[in-house]
Amino acid sequence: MKNVALITGASSGIGLELAKIHGSQKNDLVLVARSTNKLLKLKNELESQYGIQVLNIPKDLSIPEAAQEVYEVVIEKGIEVEYLINNAGMGDFGLYHETSWEKEEMMINLNILALSQFTKLFGSDMVKRGHGKIMNISSTAAFQPGPLMAVYYASKHYVQAYSEALYEEWKEFGVSVTALCPGATATGFSEVADMEDSKLFKGKKLPSASEVAEYGHKAMMKGEMVAIHGAMNSIMAKSAKFAPKKMVLKMVRKIQEKDK
Ligand code: NAP
Repeated sequence: MKNVALITGASSGIGLELAKIHGSQKNDLVLVARSTNKLLKLKNELESQYGIQVLNIPKDLSIPEAAQEVYEVVIEKGIEVEYLINNAGMGDFGLYHETSWEKEEMMINLNILALSQFTKLFGSDMVKRGHGKIMNISSTAAFQPGPLMAVYYASKHYVQAYSEALYEEWKEFGVSVTALCPGATATGFSEVADMEDSKLFKGKKLPSASEVAEYGHKAMMKGEMVAIHGAMNSIMAKSAKFAPKKMVLKMVRKIQEKDK
């Protein structure tokens, strides 16, 4: 396999669109997600359309050590990963004392633990080789706390700070780390997070997964540190730093509340 992109969460949404982009550029692919059938369909499509090789590794990345197991399969097959895209992620909506700890634990394991372990394993190999590109899917949620989605927003703060620190550490080794920050996007995310009725999503004309993927891909190829999708999102993210914290908290809560 050559010019390999490993993409987590490739069975739908932004990850699926990123897989199509890499496929169209004749990069071979390693695709990870839980939905075996969706991955198989995508593998067949991309292999016949672009003449590339696709290896599917179905895996629940919310299980600790899952990333290590994926890494072992990849190494055992002698595959060198040139592009690592940590895209798999999930959210959950609700007042913290009412939400499910089980779901939140999954979220922490997926959004933080698996992403960090993948980056440690594949990123360290890239550093040794002196080349490679990593893109971690963060969010505009990374720039302010998120009442009604406390754990999700905090998990994306982690992704953001972690990615920016590694950008600085690894640039001298020829490895770039890009944090892609989408705002609300039309994918399966809102359903999984139980927030289809949230004002952030309901009745809104949202950017498509393919628009966000295109934007993120360009940023990763340029080796940019942070890529916030959408002019308005970018302004909001920057202004959140300077606005009074209590006002920001109220605003975020209002924006996210469900339509009654
Ligand atoms: P999506 O359509 O729900 O896709 C999520 C992907 O992650 C799916 O392929 C899913 O595959 C995979 N995934 C979920 N749980 C998993 C697990 N336990 N193990 C392995 N894979 C798992 O949502 P999306 O919007 O494209 O999400 C992609 C990224 O964008 C996430 O990190 C999300 O936080 C971020 N983001 C999304 C939005 C938005 O509004 N959509 C905004 C900002 C940031 P399986 O179900 O097959 O496992």
